[in-house]
Amino acid sequence: MRLIFLGSPGSGKSTQAGMVSDKIGIPRIATGDLLREAVARDTDVGRKAEVYMKRGELVPDDVMLPLVERRLGEADCSEGYILDGFPRTLAQAVGFEEILARRGEVLDGVILIDVEAEKILKRLSRRRLCVECNTLYNLDGDPPLENERCKKCGCELVLRNDDAEDTVRRRLYIYRSNTVPLVGYYEAEGLLRKVDGSGSIDSVFALVSDEISELRRS
Ligand code: AMP
Repeated sequence: MRLIFLGSPGSGKSTQAGMVSDKIGIPRIATGDLLREAVARDTDVGRKAEVYMKRGELVPDDVMLPLVERRLGEADCSEGYILDGFPRTLAQAVGFEEILARRGEVLDGVILIDVEAEKILKRLSRRRLCVECNTLYNLDGDPPLENERCKKCGCELVLRNDDAEDTVRRRLYIYRSNTVPLVGYYEAEGLLRKVDGSGSIDSVFALVSDEISELRRS
């Protein structure tokens, strides 16, 4: 199965995509994680991407498309994958169709996790990232994190440097102007499934799972 998870920064799409990945046994490919790893390893891609990421801006398509195509070429993607944070522009969506065509694959569906803007701002300021395994947490989570350390590996949690308030506002603006048009694009293709992302992690996951079951039947 090949899926795209769409949603604003802070919508919970990565958490949901991760849960679906665990449930159906296909990898979650998060382009933000790929880029953060490239920055940490100081690769060519990392050096190009870092300036844009620090400003909360989109990394150019000519960096993103080859990065994604290379990652999808790895063995774990042969039975499917969940794209999280890609595509983020119409040009990337078109580029991704070309990648699919080269790979002889089709996209099964696009899950949009929909959350109102006010809730997003609040969530992002309380979000923390594990420095070691990239797991995201919310300090007000259920149950709330007590010692501000990662539940998986025990490492330190930090505010992502692009979760500072000015950068968050910029990322939300960029989401509205660049990524929201993808909603109409995939709706027109009959691939879009919209899920209300305002509830608890488990209640949103139940809604997401229903949509995926329906996609599997269709
Ligand atoms: P994320 O972890 O998905 O919020 O991504 C963090 C940052 O990485 C974004 O603010 C962008 O600077 C960059 N990024 C991630 N995915 C993409 C993409 N598909 N296109 C362009 N930039 C991206």
